[in-house]
Amino acid sequence: MNSNTSLIELKGIGEKTQKLFQKLNIATLGDLLSTYPKDYEIFQDPVKINCLSPGETSAVYAAVSGIPNEKKVRKLSILNVNVTDGTGELKLTFFNMPFLKKVLRQGGFYIFRGTIQSHGNTYYMEQPKIFSLNDYIAQSNRLIPKYSLTKGLTNQIFRKAVKQALDKYTFEEEFYPKEFAEKYGLIEEKKAIETIHFPNNMESLAAARKRLVFDEFFSFLFGLRQNRKYNEGLKNEYQMFETADTVRLLEQLPFPLTKAQKRVWQEIREDMGSPYCMNRLIQGDVGSGKTILAILALLMVAANGFQGALMAPTEVLAVQHYENVCDYIKQYGVHLKPVLLVGSMTSKEKKDAYEKIASGEANLIIGTHALIQSKVKYKSLALVVTDEQHRFGVHQREALAGKGENPHILVMSATPIPRTLAIILYGDLKISVIDELPANRLPIKNCVVNTSYRSKAYQFIANQVKEGRQVYVICPQVEEGELEDLENVVDYTEKLRSVLPTDIQISYLHGKMRPVDKNRIMEEFASHSIDVLVSTTVIEVGINVPNATLMMVENAERFGLAQLHQLRGRVGRGEYQSYCIFVCTQEKEDTMERLQILNKSNDGFFIASEDLKLRGPGDMFGIRQSGEFSFRMGDIYSDAAVLKLASEAVDNLFATDPDLQKPEHEKLLHHLNCVSANNVDFRTI
Ligand code: ADP
Ligand code: MG
Repeated sequence: MNSNTSLIELKGIGEKTQKLFQKLNIATLGDLLSTYPKDYEIFQDPVKINCLSPGETSAVYAAVSGIPNEKKVRKLSILNVNVTDGTGELKLTFFNMPFLKKVLRQGGFYIFRGTIQSHGNTYYMEQPKIFSLNDYIAQSNRLIPKYSLTKGLTNQIFRKAVKQALDKYTFEEEFYPKEFAEKYGLIEEKKAIETIHFPNNMESLAAARKRLVFDEFFSFLFGLRQNRKYNEGLKNEYQMFETADTVRLLEQLPFPLTKAQKRVWQEIREDMGSPYCMNRLIQGDVGSGKTILAILALLMVAANGFQGALMAPTEVLAVQHYENVCDYIKQYGVHLKPVLLVGSMTSKEKKDAYEKIASGEANLIIGTHALIQSKVKYKSLALVVTDEQHRFGVHQREALAGKGENPHILVMSATPIPRTLAIILYGDLKISVIDELPANRLPIKNCVVNTSYRSKAYQFIANQVKEGRQVYVICPQVEEGELEDLENVVDYTEKLRSVLPTDIQISYLHGKMRPVDKNRIMEEFASHSIDVLVSTTVIEVGINVPNATLMMVENAERFGLAQLHQLRGRVGRGEYQSYCIFVCTQEKEDTMERLQILNKSNDGFFIASEDLKLRGPGDMFGIRQSGEFSFRMGDIYSDAAVLKLASEAVDNLFATDPDLQKPEHEKLLHHLNCVSANNVDFRTI
């Protein structure tokens, strides 16, 4: 059996189970073995009853001390049994398992494993698992894998399937040369995959994880390195000169550029005028003013007689950029002929746009992924800009570039990655950093509160609106019921309408709305027909309404810190004092502590690094926060050491055998080709 063998070939897997696996996107043995456990369970040695602590999952070895007692409540059978091990007594409760009456005989010894609960001085377990001593010992102190499941599929079925697959699978030969594996401390692939599913101990698990994470980083970085090699040699086909237009726009803007913006603008101009093609990343925290740099660059391109494209990850953001440019044209007479291209436009509108793009009548094309569809033909695409790059993948960036003949590339990102990692992860780009915010900004005032503060917060919202400002309220879900106990946009809007004065205009926005409706609501908010916007995180990226000064985030503990920082970036974008209220509905000490980090700082880099410290490097299954670099297993923050190692390995390989032509690299070349073939190619979308 190999990676393409269908799951149905395994014993015990019929059509029904096959369907369940399919729901998890597992069709072949290859899929199955590359679906790693999400966690592990350890069957520790049994604990004496007088040493148990409530809240923990433990096992006890004890004898049934009385006759099981069954109660019936309507159709529910409740079975109570007392057990003892000489140090104390424990109460067990089983639901709908009446047959246990006969199994659990008085005086019989068993292992009972479950979560300890307490009621006064009485300790009890509900629905514990029952084992014979021998069975338990056979499994004890090993790490038992737990997988992400779907209804009807149990961990037991999953484990059995994996076990069988591992037995029957013929692994391909190891693809790293021996010295290579030794040098970077990598165990064999086969061993790593076996161990990640059934590790004997934490040490071997760590070694398996290292190997698999290394593989992911290595193939990603190798691809980047190839890009870079290709890009570095690219001649600049569109050498440009600075024109009066950009100078005039800069003179007319209501603000001077910050020092950092000026420096980056200088770098962009030099790049576009140099003999080589530009490949540049602008990294700058939310609100640092990246957009104006993109517009200056696009204006320079238009003035030189070429086309430029600006791609944003959401329609709402693309429309905002488009309107911003239209405002510039109206206010400052900027010489740009923009066209918008987004998915929700009618086919007639799209056709018009295609024509303008193909004929060159439009010299600035703004849109979403729609820009990279095959129908779109550009006349003279000389610059592509991707905004909020962290929301795209490397592939989409490349796909847009593929629309032109080696155009200049400018990407903008607010992902707070430390410089050492950025150099590795954006290995194919030169990096410009905007490290200061515009001077007119007042720092955002933050507070982390519990739910008792809500009524005060509503009062505060009303006051801000009275002063002419606008407000965002963020809820984690769209409608009731997806996840219990979480606030949702639809009901929250109703609630605010009932508690806030009736002259306050309140609307909502979420990702399930039709794009045209989303655009309309955003426009109404931007033009101040709406005072309070209740929204999911769809407004997270890029939205710019400087009159909005207050953001209230419900169930703040549900969000990652980097995401909350992005969200918060929607306020504090103008001259007014801005505020952020994080409502924490779970009053655990560590959640409050985590959120307090936001309170201490408005600096994205600081927040990301503190968050990392709190999570700790031992957190193997940490929250993945960065969309752009989402690997199957590797986490760019907590696996930074492996990332650096993989980067070093790629560098060394490029120094000695960049095209992998040496015989000892044949299998590696084959492997890397397979990996890149499996990556989705966005050019075909
Ligand atoms: P981001 O870097 O998050 O994309 P934007 O480019 O949207 O930020 O800029 C945020 C706001 O700051 C916009 O309203 C923009 O007009 C304004 N802005 C940009 N540069 C400056 C500056 N140098 N001084 C004052 N305001 C600025
Ligand atoms: Mg932006």
